[in-house]
Amino acid sequence: MTTKYDVIVIGGGPAGYHAAIRSAQLGLRTGCIDKWINASGQPAFGGTCLNVGCIPSKALLSASQKFFEAKKHFAEIGIKVADLSIDVPAMIKRKEKVVDNLTEGVASLLKANGVAILQGKAVLHAGRSVEFSSHDGEVSILEADHIIIATGSVPVNIPPCPLVDNMIVDSAGALDLREVPNRLGIIGAGIIGLELGSVWSRLGSEVILLEALEEFLPTADTNISREAARQFKKQGMDVRLGSLVTASSIKEGKVEVEYSCAERKEKESFDKLIVAVGRRPYTEELLAADSGVNLDERGFVYVDDYCNTGAPGIYAIGDVVRGPMLAHKGMEEGLMVAERIAGEKPQVNYETVPSVIYTHPEIAWVGKTEQELKASGEDYRVGSFPMAASGRAMANNETNGLIKVIADDSTDRVLGVHMICDHASELIAEAVIGMEFETSAEDLGLTMFAHPTISEGLHEAALAVSGRAIHVANRKRKK
Ligand code: FAD
Ligand code: NAD
Repeated sequence: MTTKYDVIVIGGGPAGYHAAIRSAQLGLRTGCIDKWINASGQPAFGGTCLNVGCIPSKALLSASQKFFEAKKHFAEIGIKVADLSIDVPAMIKRKEKVVDNLTEGVASLLKANGVAILQGKAVLHAGRSVEFSSHDGEVSILEADHIIIATGSVPVNIPPCPLVDNMIVDSAGALDLREVPNRLGIIGAGIIGLELGSVWSRLGSEVILLEALEEFLPTADTNISREAARQFKKQGMDVRLGSLVTASSIKEGKVEVEYSCAERKEKESFDKLIVAVGRRPYTEELLAADSGVNLDERGFVYVDDYCNTGAPGIYAIGDVVRGPMLAHKGMEEGLMVAERIAGEKPQVNYETVPSVIYTHPEIAWVGKTEQELKASGEDYRVGSFPMAASGRAMANNETNGLIKVIADDSTDRVLGVHMICDHASELIAEAVIGMEFETSAEDLGLTMFAHPTISEGLHEAALAVSGRAIHVANRKRKK
């Protein structure tokens, strides 16, 4: 027997479960299919983000930062801690509890909103027909007027570093180490490399990151990436740019890595190696030959600005389509598609997707970088504020970093906001709201910010665009 839905969502990660819940809220008969099996062998909603991504990494980043603070900085503020030690299995167990609470929470939310929970694998056939194989091995055919593909992404593997159980691991394995490695190698100094490198460095590992590119964090504004490189070096993370790994092997309980750097052949020996060289869209065994859905040359499901695949009634959202591989970008696409199916007309503003790297200090930005504006020949003005001049940052013993606002030279419209500072992940929302409403730097400067707060740094940086900041020597910068 065929079961008919208004909407079937394939994938229950952040993109998919947002699409499913909104569809159901709008009165559409909705089913959400997800095949994830967690480390305890249980089906779990939430996809990469909740199971092995955003949430577990932030649980470990938060715990490790507390340990690091206690060890390195409490004495500076007059707190003495005797016999401080780290219990890695307890830290991992707490992370798992957070993950379980949240993944179970997503299942409850789906249920509470009336979404049919379908745990198992989906294959999409012609005519919006889905072959669903439940985890119990039952196969059924489902049909829907609308199908939303949200199958996400998986880590990229590189031939010189095949994964080896508990020795050469991907990001999921790196969130599950049971002891602090003495020497930890990481291939790739991107977002995952820096976040997970921070976790284990704070807990005591010597961390060496081998990065193929010559430039550090090229997508961040240059002022921010330079400051980040300085901070990470101070923290003891050894980032080796221009390093291309050529081979790896396991010898006597160590991971031996060969790499080339500046045309020299180098070798390193590590206790563990994390491979964090990017993620790729995941569509394996999803699309039958007659599904009508096309992939682009990089393997992403092809979509337009509204996430239409071109096949009637079939949409795709999240990591499996173009754009940044970020949970919040997928969530917004999920809501947009559900609302468009229900006849509303929302759109996603891809110009204001915030990026955050949850290191310490945190790094966050939205909009254009100074180097992008230079390259496109746009005239702009810049205002910067060093956190060393912030009263709240001083009171918090968190004076590293800066906030930078870039505005159009003639209209004063804010084009980009970049920051490396404590709480940047929260603070960036102020900039996103401003840019969403097309704020000028003057508008931000005329807005009252509570004192003393880290947010005042944004106020001051906006004022600095027109040479009006109070707590720094002002310097108008022009192209
Ligand atoms: P996914 O979360 O990958 O979910 C896809 C789901 O589809 C999975 O459950 C999968 O099992 C299911 N599926 C696939 N194929 C089928 C099929 N044929 N049938 C049924 N089900 C199927 N992003 C952020 O914004 N902030 C962060 O702090 C952040 N931290 C991260 C940290 C790490 C270590 C990693 C790895 C990623 C992080 N990300 C972060 C990225 C974020 O996890 C992804 O952008 C997000 O999960 C993508 O959501 P999605 O719903 O598109 O796909
Ligand atoms: P990434 O693209 O951020 O970084 C990968 C790095 O590996 C790049 O710097 C790349 O130059 C380097 N690299 C690639 N091949 C290499 C090789 N052979 N040798 C050495 N270096 C090599 O990817 P990631 O860190 O794996 O993260 C994957 C995705 O997950 C990101 O696109 C990001 O969007 C998402 N993510 C987001 C967050 C967040 O929002 N805070 C956190 C983690 C992951």
